[in-house]
Amino acid sequence: MQQKKFAVIGHPIGHSLSKPMHEAAFKKLNLPHTYDKLDIAPEDLEQFIKTTNLDGINVTIPHKVEVMKHLDEISNEAKQIKAVNTISFNETKTGNNTDWIGFQNSLKEEGIILENKNVLVIGAGGASRAILVSLTNNNNANVTLTNRTQQKAEDLVKELGIQDKVKIISYELLTTSHQLPQVDIIVNTTSVGMHPHEDQSPIPKELLKPNHIIFDLIYNPLKTKLMKDSEEIGCKTISGMSMLVHQGAQSLRIWLGIEPPIQTMKDAVMKSLIS
Ligand code: NAP
Repeated sequence: MQQKKFAVIGHPIGHSLSKPMHEAAFKKLNLPHTYDKLDIAPEDLEQFIKTTNLDGINVTIPHKVEVMKHLDEISNEAKQIKAVNTISFNETKTGNNTDWIGFQNSLKEEGIILENKNVLVIGAGGASRAILVSLTNNNNANVTLTNRTQQKAEDLVKELGIQDKVKIISYELLTTSHQLPQVDIIVNTTSVGMHPHEDQSPIPKELLKPNHIIFDLIYNPLKTKLMKDSEEIGCKTISGMSMLVHQGAQSLRIWLGIEPPIQTMKDAVMKSLIS
């Protein structure tokens, strides 16, 4: 089989989890392909995209938006999210966003159906975009959004064209109210609780209820304070590690048309995170 070459590009690229995750998948499937990590400075991005001989790349911060200018085609979801994290180089340079499907497949894996569920999304930064598009496209979920800076939440739903589908509530409700709004699933897309601030959580433990399903997008640490608090009172939890793996798996489907070895990829990410 002909070897194909892939990489993740970012600046800085640091300790990439994509490399060990994809390398483990290729090894498990006996594929000869390679996966590298490349630090590409913003001023070199256009030239890199024009001249690379790679077969596909993952794109991370700070290039997810800027790279769109240099592509021939962009998927509808990536256009709506306004961010590309996966590019395939065939006759055309095509940009995709796999975060939204990574989120959906993480829920599906746990048997969670979004239909008619009340979903509270916390955070209106970069990660929130794919989650909001995922929840409002083709899903009959009732979506509520809150963000520390409320104006950013209002601007984001307008930018994504989903202002009629998302209700925005005050961030103070998360910490001062004695009752969260009627919620089935809580998705934390903020960085609250991320390393090195492992002692923080966006929701006080006393506001959590055993019937809440908690999806924390943070994957470092693997188990955040929010997840630990939730598990202690009996909630079902999903880690950002699951979404990370499922978005990577979707990249492999796009590039190679294969069914990725999800568990192998999870094991590789976990090994990298604890080493
Ligand atoms: P970002 O664009 O910088 O957004 C950060 C968000 O966190 C904003 O909503 C911000 O609110 C909020 N925030 C930050 N500090 C806060 C605090 N002290 N109190 C309340 N809110 C606070 O970051 P991002 O790219 O969206 O990433 C967010 C997290 O998601 C990171 O931990 C990242 O690793 C994770 N992530 C995971 C995946 C995955 O596949 N699992 C994918 C992408 C990202 P303001 O608007 O008020 O500043």
